[in-house]
Amino acid sequence: MKVLVAVKRVVDYNVKVRVKSDGSGVDLANVKMSINPFDEIAVEEAIRLKESGKATEVVLVSVGSAKSEETLRTGLAMGADRGILVDTDEQTVEPLAVAKILKSVAQSEQADLVILGKQAIDDDCNQTGQMLSALLDWPQGTFASVVDVLSPEKVNVTREVDGGLQTLQLRLPAVVTTDLRLNEPRFASLPNIMKAKKKPVAKLTLSDVGLGDEVLTPRLTVKTTQEPASRQAGIKVGNVAELIEKLKNEAGVL
Ligand code: AMP
Repeated sequence: MKVLVAVKRVVDYNVKVRVKSDGSGVDLANVKMSINPFDEIAVEEAIRLKESGKATEVVLVSVGSAKSEETLRTGLAMGADRGILVDTDEQTVEPLAVAKILKSVAQSEQADLVILGKQAIDDDCNQTGQMLSALLDWPQGTFASVVDVLSPEKVNVTREVDGGLQTLQLRLPAVVTTDLRLNEPRFASLPNIMKAKKKPVAKLTLSDVGLGDEVLTPRLTVKTTQEPASRQAGIKVGNVAELIEKLKNEAGVL
């Protein structure tokens, strides 16, 4: 079984993002970039499938500028076998365009399972996996907290849904998106980071995947980007009685 994992290069989750002064977006100059955390979980899951003998190959794919090769190398250092960079020149590619590109790669690679993150922490779209499943007409298991491959034809996916868990059985090939509790990704060891530099990364253009430049034409316009409102300063209370009095009489929550 071949597993394809989509990995996106995003602003590192520890970075406090700065909004550009003209409100046109977020300032990416000199900002630390990393693999999207949900995609790191997706890579870990695919590697575990390979270690348990259920997957034969783990292939990573990233769509974006040439810098996304770093993101692929991070996943290769964790243990994936090879990478595919679909170079679009631009770092920002909307979910539908990414889904169309991933569809083409999934078909040419004859993937049995595609694992994506449930969302990218930069755009918070939570769309690409669902769109990919629709374009391929493959079943989808989103927000996965357990992925149990039963046979080369079947996978059980436990989903984190409002108010509990839901387990679905999907026919393979299928699309799965990861939630936070699926696993804890491993740290890449130094020897594996060195080895990853030599693992193959194929660099493809849009025309290599059978698409034209028009696929990148934005469908969305960002009107404005704003910082969240700053929180008002709190107050200190002297004792529990005073706290309860304020909760009752000022905040009205008791
Ligand atoms: P989104 O729908 O943008 O929130 O992204 C959901 C998931 O789709 C991410 O966690 C990635 O697995 C995948 N994805 C989105 N954009 C890209 C990209 N440019 N390259 C590779 N994978 C991507």
